[in-house]
Amino acid sequence: MSKSIVVIGLGNMGAPMAVNLIKAGHKVTGFDLTPACCDAARAEGVIIASSAVEAVQSADVVITMLPAGKHVLSVWGEIVPAVRDGALLIDCSTIDVESARKAHALAAARKLPSIDAPVSGGVGGAKAATLTFMAGGSGEAFAAAKPVLEAMGKRIVHCGDAGAGQAAKICNNMILGISMIGVSEAFALAEKLGLSHQALFDVASTSSGQCWSITSYCPVPGPVPASPANNGYKPGFAAALMLKDLKLSQEAAKVAGAATPLGAHAEEIYAAFNAAGHDGDDFSGIINHVRGLKR
Ligand code: NAD
Repeated sequence: MSKSIVVIGLGNMGAPMAVNLIKAGHKVTGFDLTPACCDAARAEGVIIASSAVEAVQSADVVITMLPAGKHVLSVWGEIVPAVRDGALLIDCSTIDVESARKAHALAAARKLPSIDAPVSGGVGGAKAATLTFMAGGSGEAFAAAKPVLEAMGKRIVHCGDAGAGQAAKICNNMILGISMIGVSEAFALAEKLGLSHQALFDVASTSSGQCWSITSYCPVPGPVPASPANNGYKPGFAAALMLKDLKLSQEAAKVAGAATPLGAHAEEIYAAFNAAGHDGDDFSGIINHVRGLKR
Protein backbone atom coordinates (compact mmCIF):
# COMPACT_ATOMS: atom_id res chain seq x y z
CA MET A 1 0.00 0.00 0.00
CA SER A 2 1.34 3.41 -0.96
CA LYS A 3 2.34 5.52 2.04
CA SER A 4 3.56 9.02 2.69
CA ILE A 5 7.14 8.49 3.85
CA VAL A 6 9.68 11.06 5.05
CA VAL A 7 13.45 10.46 4.94
CA ILE A 8 15.59 12.81 7.05
CA GLY A 9 19.29 12.58 6.19
CA LEU A 10 19.81 12.29 2.42
CA GLY A 11 23.51 11.40 2.43
CA ASN A 12 25.32 8.42 0.91
CA MET A 13 22.81 5.96 2.37
CA GLY A 14 19.60 7.96 2.90
CA ALA A 15 19.34 9.23 -0.68
CA PRO A 16 19.42 5.83 -2.45
CA MET A 17 17.10 4.40 0.21
CA ALA A 18 14.61 7.22 -0.50
CA VAL A 19 14.84 6.47 -4.23
CA ASN A 20 13.97 2.81 -3.63
CA LEU A 21 10.92 3.85 -1.62
CA ILE A 22 9.78 5.93 -4.61
CA LYS A 23 10.35 2.93 -6.90
CA ALA A 24 8.11 0.89 -4.58
CA GLY A 25 5.28 3.40 -5.17
CA HIS A 26 5.48 5.52 -2.01
CA LYS A 27 5.24 9.32 -1.87
CA VAL A 28 8.62 10.34 -0.47
CA THR A 29 9.48 13.68 1.11
CA GLY A 30 13.00 14.39 2.35
CA PHE A 31 15.10 16.85 4.28
CA ASP A 32 18.85 17.29 4.83
CA LEU A 33 20.86 20.15 6.33
CA THR A 34 23.24 20.02 3.33
CA PRO A 35 21.71 21.81 0.30
CA ALA A 36 23.72 19.71 -2.19
CA CYS A 37 22.19 16.51 -0.74
CA CYS A 38 18.70 18.01 -1.11
CA ASP A 39 19.40 19.01 -4.73
CA ALA A 40 20.70 15.54 -5.64
CA ALA A 41 17.69 13.82 -4.04
CA ARG A 42 15.25 16.25 -5.69
CA ALA A 43 16.73 15.29 -9.07
CA GLU A 44 15.84 11.66 -8.25
CA GLY A 45 12.19 12.50 -7.49
CA VAL A 46 12.27 13.17 -3.72
CA ILE A 47 10.04 16.09 -2.65
CA ILE A 48 12.25 18.39 -0.55
CA ALA A 49 10.80 20.10 2.53
CA SER A 50 12.20 23.28 4.07
CA SER A 51 12.68 21.70 7.52
CA ALA A 52 12.36 18.37 9.29
CA VAL A 53 9.28 19.60 11.18
CA GLU A 54 7.57 20.73 7.97
CA ALA A 55 8.44 17.43 6.26
CA VAL A 56 6.84 15.16 8.88
CA GLN A 57 3.48 16.82 9.51
CA SER A 58 1.32 14.48 7.42
CA ALA A 59 3.69 11.52 7.19
CA ASP A 60 2.62 7.91 7.78
CA VAL A 61 6.26 6.88 8.32
CA VAL A 62 9.40 8.88 9.20
CA ILE A 63 12.86 7.41 8.58
CA THR A 64 16.05 9.01 9.90
CA MET A 65 19.48 8.16 8.40
CA LEU A 66 21.93 10.38 10.27
CA PRO A 67 25.59 10.28 11.35
CA ALA A 68 25.39 9.65 15.13
CA GLY A 69 23.22 9.44 18.26
CA LYS A 70 23.33 13.18 18.99
CA HIS A 71 21.90 13.96 15.54
CA VAL A 72 19.15 11.37 15.93
CA LEU A 73 18.13 12.63 19.38
CA SER A 74 18.14 16.23 18.18
CA VAL A 75 15.98 15.43 15.12
CA TRP A 76 13.61 13.10 17.02
CA GLY A 77 13.28 15.83 19.70
CA GLU A 78 11.97 18.15 16.98
CA ILE A 79 9.80 15.74 15.00
CA VAL A 80 8.13 13.64 17.70
CA PRO A 81 5.90 16.54 18.82
CA ALA A 82 5.16 17.42 15.15
CA VAL A 83 4.03 14.08 13.64
CA ARG A 84 0.41 13.00 13.50
CA ASP A 85 -0.95 10.39 15.94
CA GLY A 86 -0.02 6.85 14.93
CA ALA A 87 2.92 7.80 12.70
CA LEU A 88 5.67 5.14 12.63
CA LEU A 89 9.24 6.29 13.43
CA ILE A 90 12.21 4.30 12.11
CA ASP A 91 15.85 5.17 12.77
CA CYS A 92 18.21 3.42 10.34
CA SER A 93 21.40 5.23 11.46
CA THR A 94 24.15 3.30 13.27
CA ILE A 95 24.18 4.84 16.75
CA ASP A 96 24.91 3.93 20.37
CA VAL A 97 22.43 1.69 22.14
CA GLU A 98 21.74 4.26 24.89
CA SER A 99 20.73 6.97 22.40
CA ALA A 100 18.60 4.48 20.48
CA ARG A 101 16.71 3.66 23.68
CA LYS A 102 16.28 7.38 24.47
CA ALA A 103 14.85 7.91 20.97
CA HIS A 104 12.35 5.07 21.53
CA ALA A 105 11.40 6.69 24.87
CA LEU A 106 10.65 10.00 23.12
CA ALA A 107 8.30 8.15 20.76
CA ALA A 108 6.73 6.09 23.57
CA ALA A 109 5.87 9.26 25.50
CA ARG A 110 3.55 10.10 22.58
CA LYS A 111 2.45 6.45 22.16
CA LEU A 112 4.05 6.33 18.70
CA PRO A 113 5.37 3.01 17.33
CA SER A 114 9.14 3.11 16.79
CA ILE A 115 11.94 0.87 15.52
CA ASP A 116 15.72 1.09 15.56
CA ALA A 117 16.77 -0.54 12.30
CA PRO A 118 20.47 -0.09 11.46
CA VAL A 119 21.67 -1.65 8.24
CA SER A 120 24.52 -3.59 6.77
CA GLY A 121 25.30 -3.74 3.08
CA GLY A 122 26.77 -0.27 2.55
CA VAL A 123 26.11 2.17 -0.27
CA GLY A 124 26.01 -0.67 -2.83
CA GLY A 125 23.28 -2.42 -0.84
CA ALA A 126 21.39 0.86 -0.38
CA LYS A 127 21.37 1.45 -4.15
CA ALA A 128 20.46 -2.15 -5.02
CA ALA A 129 17.78 -2.41 -2.28
CA THR A 130 19.62 -5.41 -0.82
CA LEU A 131 20.35 -4.06 2.67
CA THR A 132 20.02 -6.19 5.79
CA PHE A 133 17.98 -4.44 8.50
CA MET A 134 18.48 -5.38 12.16
CA ALA A 135 15.39 -4.15 13.99
CA GLY A 136 14.60 -3.45 17.64
CA GLY A 137 11.18 -2.52 18.98
CA SER A 138 7.77 -4.00 19.79
CA GLY A 139 6.27 -6.77 17.65
CA GLU A 140 3.53 -4.38 16.46
CA ALA A 141 6.01 -1.69 15.43
CA PHE A 142 8.15 -4.29 13.65
CA ALA A 143 5.13 -5.68 11.77
CA ALA A 144 4.26 -2.14 10.61
CA ALA A 145 7.85 -1.36 9.60
CA LYS A 146 8.62 -4.61 7.76
CA PRO A 147 6.80 -3.86 4.46
CA VAL A 148 8.47 -0.43 4.33
CA LEU A 149 11.93 -1.87 4.99
CA GLU A 150 11.34 -4.58 2.36
CA ALA A 151 11.37 -1.86 -0.32
CA MET A 152 14.99 -1.09 0.66
CA GLY A 153 16.42 -4.43 1.73
CA LYS A 154 16.37 -8.16 1.30
CA ARG A 155 16.75 -9.37 4.91
CA ILE A 156 14.72 -7.86 7.73
CA VAL A 157 15.50 -9.39 11.13
CA HIS A 158 13.56 -8.62 14.33
CA CYS A 159 16.30 -8.76 16.98
CA GLY A 160 14.21 -7.88 20.07
CA ASP A 161 13.02 -4.84 22.01
CA ALA A 162 14.15 -1.20 21.83
CA GLY A 163 17.88 -0.95 21.01
CA ALA A 164 18.26 -4.62 20.01
CA GLY A 165 18.90 -3.71 16.37
CA GLN A 166 21.81 -1.45 17.35
CA ALA A 167 23.10 -4.10 19.75
CA ALA A 168 23.10 -6.71 16.95
CA LYS A 169 24.82 -4.33 14.54
CA ILE A 170 27.72 -3.43 16.86
CA CYS A 171 28.21 -7.00 18.09
CA ASN A 172 28.37 -8.22 14.47
CA ASN A 173 30.78 -5.47 13.45
CA MET A 174 32.99 -6.09 16.48
CA ILE A 175 33.33 -9.71 15.27
CA LEU A 176 34.12 -8.39 11.79
CA GLY A 177 36.81 -5.92 12.97
CA ILE A 178 38.50 -8.55 15.12
CA SER A 179 38.29 -11.25 12.44
CA MET A 180 39.72 -9.00 9.72
CA ILE A 181 42.73 -8.23 11.90
CA GLY A 182 43.14 -11.95 12.69
CA VAL A 183 42.98 -12.91 9.02
CA SER A 184 45.44 -10.12 8.16
CA GLU A 185 47.89 -11.33 10.82
CA ALA A 186 47.68 -14.87 9.42
CA PHE A 187 48.41 -13.72 5.84
CA ALA A 188 51.27 -11.48 7.05
CA LEU A 189 52.75 -14.42 9.00
CA ALA A 190 52.32 -16.72 5.98
CA GLU A 191 54.28 -14.25 3.84
CA LYS A 192 57.20 -14.38 6.31
CA LEU A 193 57.00 -18.19 6.36
CA GLY A 194 57.14 -18.43 2.56
CA LEU A 195 53.55 -19.77 2.30
CA SER A 196 51.63 -18.48 -0.72
CA HIS A 197 48.43 -16.45 -0.35
CA GLN A 198 46.55 -18.98 -2.46
CA ALA A 199 47.74 -21.95 -0.39
CA LEU A 200 46.67 -20.31 2.88
CA PHE A 201 43.34 -19.32 1.31
CA ASP A 202 42.70 -22.84 -0.04
CA VAL A 203 43.23 -24.33 3.41
CA ALA A 204 41.72 -21.67 5.69
CA SER A 205 38.67 -20.91 3.53
CA THR A 206 37.54 -24.52 3.80
CA SER A 207 38.67 -25.44 7.31
CA SER A 208 38.38 -24.22 10.88
CA GLY A 209 39.84 -20.75 10.18
CA GLN A 210 36.99 -20.07 7.73
CA CYS A 211 35.14 -16.74 8.16
CA TRP A 212 33.61 -13.95 6.04
CA SER A 213 36.84 -11.91 6.23
CA ILE A 214 38.55 -14.72 4.28
CA THR A 215 35.81 -16.04 2.01
CA SER A 216 34.16 -12.77 0.91
CA TYR A 217 36.62 -10.01 1.73
CA CYS A 218 40.06 -11.64 1.61
CA PRO A 219 42.56 -8.84 2.43
CA VAL A 220 45.17 -9.93 -0.15
CA PRO A 221 44.68 -9.65 -3.91
CA GLY A 222 44.01 -12.85 -5.84
CA PRO A 223 41.99 -15.49 -4.03
CA VAL A 224 38.65 -13.58 -3.93
CA PRO A 225 38.47 -11.50 -7.13
CA ALA A 226 35.67 -9.20 -5.88
CA SER A 227 37.42 -8.23 -2.64
CA PRO A 228 38.65 -4.59 -2.29
CA ALA A 229 42.26 -5.87 -2.11
CA ASN A 230 42.02 -6.30 -5.90
CA ASN A 231 40.96 -2.68 -6.31
CA GLY A 232 43.59 -0.73 -4.36
CA TYR A 233 41.51 -1.10 -1.14
CA LYS A 234 38.85 1.27 -2.45
CA PRO A 235 35.78 0.86 -0.16
CA GLY A 236 33.63 -1.19 0.25
CA PHE A 237 33.33 -0.47 3.91
CA ALA A 238 35.57 2.43 4.88
CA ALA A 239 38.01 2.14 7.79
CA ALA A 240 36.42 5.28 9.31
CA LEU A 241 33.08 3.46 9.61
CA MET A 242 34.74 0.36 11.08
CA LEU A 243 36.39 2.58 13.71
CA LYS A 244 33.03 4.24 14.43
CA ASP A 245 31.37 0.86 15.00
CA LEU A 246 34.24 -0.45 17.16
CA LYS A 247 34.00 2.69 19.31
CA LEU A 248 30.25 2.09 19.67
CA SER A 249 30.93 -1.52 20.70
CA GLN A 250 33.37 -0.36 23.37
CA GLU A 251 30.99 2.32 24.71
CA ALA A 252 28.28 -0.34 24.94
CA ALA A 253 30.66 -2.81 26.62
CA LYS A 254 31.60 -0.18 29.21
CA VAL A 255 27.98 0.67 30.02
CA ALA A 256 26.97 -3.01 30.12
CA GLY A 257 30.04 -4.12 32.12
CA ALA A 258 31.13 -6.66 29.47
CA ALA A 259 34.81 -7.57 29.00
CA THR A 260 35.79 -7.28 25.30
CA PRO A 261 39.61 -7.21 25.31
CA LEU A 262 39.96 -8.12 21.62
CA GLY A 263 37.29 -5.56 20.67
CA ALA A 264 39.24 -2.92 22.62
CA HIS A 265 42.49 -3.89 20.91
CA ALA A 266 40.79 -3.87 17.48
CA GLU A 267 39.60 -0.31 18.20
CA GLU A 268 43.19 0.76 18.99
CA ILE A 269 44.54 -0.85 15.81
CA TYR A 270 41.87 0.74 13.59
CA ALA A 271 42.38 4.11 15.36
CA ALA A 272 46.08 4.01 14.44
CA PHE A 273 45.23 3.01 10.84
CA ASN A 274 42.73 5.90 10.54
CA ALA A 275 45.17 8.38 12.14
CA ALA A 276 47.79 7.41 9.54
CA GLY A 277 45.48 8.80 6.84
CA HIS A 278 43.68 5.59 5.81
CA ASP A 279 40.20 6.50 7.02
CA GLY A 280 38.93 6.48 3.42
CA ASP A 281 40.47 3.08 2.59
CA ASP A 282 38.50 -0.13 2.80
CA PHE A 283 38.84 -1.63 6.29
CA SER A 284 40.56 -4.73 4.84
CA GLY A 285 43.53 -2.43 4.07
CA ILE A 286 44.38 -3.03 7.75
CA ILE A 287 46.66 -5.81 6.45
CA ASN A 288 49.11 -3.13 5.23
CA HIS A 289 49.16 -1.66 8.74
CA VAL A 290 49.58 -5.10 10.32
CA ARG A 291 52.58 -5.85 8.06
CA GLY A 292 54.26 -2.70 9.38
CA LEU A 293 53.79 -3.52 13.07
CA LYS A 294 56.93 -4.40 15.05
CA ARG A 295 57.09 -7.65 16.95
P1 NAD B 1 26.40 10.74 5.33
O1 NAD B 1 27.29 11.60 6.14
O2 NAD B 1 26.65 10.58 3.87
O3 NAD B 1 24.85 11.23 5.49
C1 NAD B 1 24.32 11.76 6.68
C2 NAD B 1 23.50 12.97 6.30
O4 NAD B 1 22.81 13.45 7.46
C3 NAD B 1 24.34 14.15 5.77
O5 NAD B 1 23.93 14.44 4.44
C4 NAD B 1 24.04 15.29 6.74
O6 NAD B 1 23.96 16.55 6.10
C5 NAD B 1 22.69 14.87 7.28
N1 NAD B 1 22.34 15.47 8.57
C6 NAD B 1 23.10 15.59 9.69
N2 NAD B 1 22.40 16.20 10.67
C7 NAD B 1 21.17 16.47 10.16
C8 NAD B 1 20.00 17.08 10.68
N3 NAD B 1 19.94 17.55 11.92
N4 NAD B 1 18.93 17.19 9.89
C9 NAD B 1 18.96 16.72 8.60
N5 NAD B 1 20.04 16.14 8.05
C10 NAD B 1 21.13 16.02 8.82
O7 NAD B 1 26.40 9.32 6.06
P2 NAD B 1 25.93 7.89 5.45
O8 NAD B 1 27.09 7.20 4.86
O9 NAD B 1 24.69 8.11 4.64
O10 NAD B 1 25.57 7.10 6.80
C11 NAD B 1 24.37 7.35 7.52
C12 NAD B 1 24.30 6.37 8.66
O11 NAD B 1 24.33 5.03 8.14
C13 NAD B 1 25.47 6.47 9.64
O12 NAD B 1 24.97 6.28 10.95
C14 NAD B 1 26.39 5.35 9.22
O13 NAD B 1 27.18 4.83 10.28
C15 NAD B 1 25.37 4.30 8.75
N6 NAD B 1 25.91 3.33 7.78
C16 NAD B 1 26.64 3.75 6.71
C17 NAD B 1 27.13 2.82 5.81
C18 NAD B 1 27.95 3.24 4.61
O14 NAD B 1 28.56 2.37 3.96
N7 NAD B 1 27.99 4.54 4.27
C19 NAD B 1 26.89 1.46 6.01
C20 NAD B 1 26.11 1.05 7.09
C21 NAD B 1 25.62 2.01 7.99
